[in-house]
Amino acid sequence: MKELKKVLDRLYNEMNSEQRITNDPVSFPHKFLKEKDIEVAAFISACFAFGNVNKILETLSKIFMIMDFEPYLYLISVSQSDLQRDFRGFVYRFVDEKAIVEFLSSIGKYLSEKGRLVEMVEDGVFQTSLNIHRTLMAYSENNYALKKSNLIPDISKGSPCKRLNLFFRWMVRKDNVDFGLWSERIKPSSLIIPLDTHILKISRRLGFTKRKNSSLKTAMEITDYLRQLDPDDPVKYDFSLCHTGIQGICNKDISRARCNICYLQPFCVEGKMKKKNHSED
Ligand code: SF4
Repeated sequence: MKELKKVLDRLYNEMNSEQRITNDPVSFPHKFLKEKDIEVAAFISACFAFGNVNKILETLSKIFMIMDFEPYLYLISVSQSDLQRDFRGFVYRFVDEKAIVEFLSSIGKYLSEKGRLVEMVEDGVFQTSLNIHRTLMAYSENNYALKKSNLIPDISKGSPCKRLNLFFRWMVRKDNVDFGLWSERIKPSSLIIPLDTHILKISRRLGFTKRKNSSLKTAMEITDYLRQLDPDDPVKYDFSLCHTGIQGICNKDISRARCNICYLQPFCVEGKMKKKNHSED
């Protein structure tokens, strides 16, 4: 465990830099200085963090350009008809113009009433994910479009809530990637890892879980494993592990994984097997 922690810390220290975020949706909230803009930009960016990374970045760029890079001001002042005009023809995978209008207008209504997104927070991350989901639904006049859009996870179906957990990581943890704006309300120790395909693949290879499905249970099992390495900050390694996949070092296809340059190789079942097979060739 100690040796694994050393290697994960090395990886973390290399990746914990603003230069590393350009290929990640977290780069969008980093474009803002005011906390209320960061919060809103982070929520929108996390909710759109599904699919191909280049398409995600392209889509977020369009959204924030429409908002003139003033997301808070835009959302509290825009009318429903202006939203419909501004997002006419918008489409990103399952999210059509109707869904994004509902999504943004529900955030805008919440902000106009409560002032800041942080007001949705209550103790406990899972609880908080549920609350954010329900709160936004309550602020949406037509939540059918939102439900269909895939922007809000369906917790009742065991969704790992990757995007909400990603948003919480950004808001609660504090380092060069994450903002830590909500650290007084939620403890980093209560975060759940944002489980995506990269994290699932690497976690299985490193023995953090044996589960194959992407569920909340799997996310919690991986988080529990990581908690043994850092009880106060179990999702600290999420960004660096995930980017080992995004950068193409760890590949689903083991023959294409670059195990020879991967720090994790001594702890990785498939990496060790690959090394052994090569040395026998
Ligand atoms: S050793 Fe290879 S398979 Fe294992 S995590 Fe690293 S790149 Fe992926």
